[in-house]
Amino acid sequence: MSQRKLMIPGPVDITPEVRQAMSVPMMPHYGREWILLHNETREMAKRIFGTQHDLYIMAGPGTMALEAALGSALEPGATVLIVNNGFFAQRLVTIAQGLALETVEVKAPMGAPVLPAAVEEALAKHPEVKALAVVHHETSTGVLNPLESIMGVARAHGVLTVVDAVSSLGGVPLEVDAWGIDFCASVANKALETPPALALLSISPRAWEHVEARQAPRGWYLDLKTWQWYEEHWGDWHPSPVTMPTSNLYAFHESLMALLAQGIEGRYAEYRAAAQAVRGGLTRLGFSPVVAEAYASPLTTAFYMRSGVDPDELKQWLCDEAGILISGGIGELKGEILRVGHIGLARQKDYVIAFLLGVEGYLRAQGESIPWGASLAALDAAGF
Ligand SMILES: *Cc1c(COP(=O)(O)O)cnc(C)c1O
Repeated sequence: MSQRKLMIPGPVDITPEVRQAMSVPMMPHYGREWILLHNETREMAKRIFGTQHDLYIMAGPGTMALEAALGSALEPGATVLIVNNGFFAQRLVTIAQGLALETVEVKAPMGAPVLPAAVEEALAKHPEVKALAVVHHETSTGVLNPLESIMGVARAHGVLTVVDAVSSLGGVPLEVDAWGIDFCASVANKALETPPALALLSISPRAWEHVEARQAPRGWYLDLKTWQWYEEHWGDWHPSPVTMPTSNLYAFHESLMALLAQGIEGRYAEYRAAAQAVRGGLTRLGFSPVVAEAYASPLTTAFYMRSGVDPDELKQWLCDEAGILISGGIGELKGEILRVGHIGLARQKDYVIAFLLGVEGYLRAQGESIPWGASLAALDAAGF
């Protein structure tokens, strides 16, 4: 097995404890033992979401939870306002259109946030809008949209809210009930640090009203009415409509225990320190960050190339010579930027140092004379 360090924005390197939890004997996705594991895991996840309302643990990717939310709550032909400043927001547009919804977009250039005033203007101009969908952390650039204030604007207009928190939940503050989020979708395999397989979807009472009022057929597995039926009728022994990845739930339970034992604030601080150290170090080496400090997430750092540095070559060099995997640009910024993730074990000091020394090593291999460790000066300031 390769010992490469994953420094991509997910999937992520996970702790040995969480990996070992995957090797429990097989168990059924029903019965007493399962109910205990499932319900306890769900209660812990609710604490991370900041919700007292419903939360479903679903088998599948985050995209599935988003599709389930939009399809279950909205009739074909209903209009959704999509806050669009990146690749994953564009994915929301595609999902909505695939569900025969009408879309209106409020845009910002990639790397810039969409501000509440722009959302306010769009909602005032389009009274037909029934729901607003927004990506919290746009992983394609590392920008954090000001979610709490955008939710405030949406509430004031009485529209349903669907949040893609796939890469933000567990990594930055997010309060589903306090901010009035109707649907919040995430996964267990990004900042919650387990292997891929599980999606998470919180559903407010208001969201349920929309789901229950919807008439059009919306399939079966992705119709939340199906999930509700199982919860209500079979909740005490078989709470999900399909076979669940039971080993993954063990891993998720383990990971949530570790996170809650550490305290979520402590985890947030680790991400912030890793991101600051990387941002500071790259700046010292002459690279400029894509996102302005005020809106830069502590979960992914995207940076532009300096003149003469080819992003694919640098990325390949890091992989071959330093054993580190980072990501390239996607969408409009493909070929212009690179992205380094700080989630999973990448939040640790040894990953950050290996990455920065790797970039230095590449530049030295290009003939630049950079003193060894020049990029590490930001580590102390970052609190490492
Ligand atoms: C990773 C990611 C997704 C896609 O998640 P899947 O689990 O692959 O469906 C969606 N939105 C954001 C913001 C992401 O980072």
